[in-house]
Amino acid sequence: MNIPQLTNYIAGVWTKPATKDDLAVVNPATGESLGRVPLSSVAEVDRAVEAASKAYREWRETPPADRIQPLFKFRRLLEEHQDRLARSITNECGKTYGEAVAEVRRAIENVEFACGIPSLMQGYNSEDIARGIDEMMIRQPLGVVAAITPFNFPAMVPLWFLPCAIACGNTFILKPSEKVPVTAWRFFELLEQTGLPPGVVNLVHGAKDSVDALLNHPAVRAVSFVGSSPVARYIYSRAAAAGKRAQCQGGAKNPVIVLPDADLEMTTQIVADSAFGCAGQRCLAASLAITVGEARQPFRESLAEAARVRVVGYGLDDGVQMGPVITPQSKERVEDLIGRGMGEGGSALVDGRNTRISGYEQGNFVRPTVLDGVPPAGTIARTEIFGPVVGLVHVQTIDDAIELVNASNYGNMACLFTSSGLAAREFRYKALAGNIGINLGVAAPMAYFPFGGMKESFFGDLHGQGRDAVDFYTEKKVVIERWPRHWSRKF
Ligand code: NAD
Repeated sequence: MNIPQLTNYIAGVWTKPATKDDLAVVNPATGESLGRVPLSSVAEVDRAVEAASKAYREWRETPPADRIQPLFKFRRLLEEHQDRLARSITNECGKTYGEAVAEVRRAIENVEFACGIPSLMQGYNSEDIARGIDEMMIRQPLGVVAAITPFNFPAMVPLWFLPCAIACGNTFILKPSEKVPVTAWRFFELLEQTGLPPGVVNLVHGAKDSVDALLNHPAVRAVSFVGSSPVARYIYSRAAAAGKRAQCQGGAKNPVIVLPDADLEMTTQIVADSAFGCAGQRCLAASLAITVGEARQPFRESLAEAARVRVVGYGLDDGVQMGPVITPQSKERVEDLIGRGMGEGGSALVDGRNTRISGYEQGNFVRPTVLDGVPPAGTIARTEIFGPVVGLVHVQTIDDAIELVNASNYGNMACLFTSSGLAAREFRYKALAGNIGINLGVAAPMAYFPFGGMKESFFGDLHGQGRDAVDFYTEKKVVIERWPRHWSRKF
């Protein structure tokens, strides 16, 4: 598969941007070039906003039950093209084929959720708030909305937003990650076949300048962002200052607590899958394991063994359990952090640096790494590594463990492994994280629940997915009506 030059999709037309600026899209396992992605200019973004604004007038008046018909078609097309999309995800993002298929499934789930908009978008009313006066709340779309998405879920994260946004009657612009633009390009090819009117969905490739152009444009009413915390903070503040609605999901440093009464085998398996799945490049990857009391010794040994035996390689090859990290810079950064962790007193039970995979010498591979005894205030315990690295910290009580969880700057996910219902309740009650897992390692909310996040992991109040998404993509309008009897003709 060779794609020479990706194009934007604006007003229902595939457009080659006038800009000469572009970047190579590179398969992180093979180093092979997959094509070039344009870095769209301000003029190109303005064209997309204009197209979306124009389409909005008609789309907003299209009944919700009609607006979801193209989404039913889109769902079917995603099913039919699951294999092609999953291969595209593996090739540009590095995760294994199985992980890529799972991603497409989660993407489809969001389309299914949006197909329920006719009832999800209903308002409510009260008759006789005073004699002869009725009050109602109706939901209306906002207008043009945009999403800016990260590299690690090329299909799922854009589809956290697009289906719900358009089902609610908005028109939409996606600015996907410039590192993984091919999958978005492919699912836009499917969207093109659904009968959506031109301009309802638009795809604009680019990087910071394209994002800034969206933030600067007065017609963009709302911005959804997923990516690293510094960029989330930047986009949230710029959007808010411009009077836009914003929901910005940031980075993470996810702790898992292992109590002595946890099932060792199951816990090890789940924590290893969470930490090393997608090469640790998930915002819900476990990256700090806090063992309590006598859980320490058995867990460190079993986790180290799970790390050692994990099969690393190109995600389309049979039997591969973990792919590469996204770029050579990312590999270098992860390896530097492992070195720093060791310099700060952590000892490497398994050291994944300097990995070479035969036949894939150009790949950005880092094998699973387990660093024992990392200082709680040190780099490994506090930094988002975004690679297959777990730090182990040992404490004496569950309270000490929860205190550590809550001291983190991040609050995306926290998990507890235990067979005690009381401990689980204590944890759920006290832990400062937006997604909580009990005997689970990736507490990823279904499409009909909001994707949580606190502290540096989320800027905003209405989250992506679920009913929050419907609130985010609609304006609540309140109407109070009086129809005095003496005005009316008698019939
Ligand atoms: P990133 O912040 O580098 O990029 C995300 C998007 O922002 C891209 O589209 C990029 O083009 C754009 N961007 C980058 N720098 C920008 C700038 N200075 N100004 C304006 N726009 C800019 O993130 P990434 O490396 O693509 O993704 C990994 C990060 O995403 C990790 O921190 C991960 O935890 C986070 N993430 C969070 C969630 C969540 O739900 N909280 C989900 C997935 C990923």
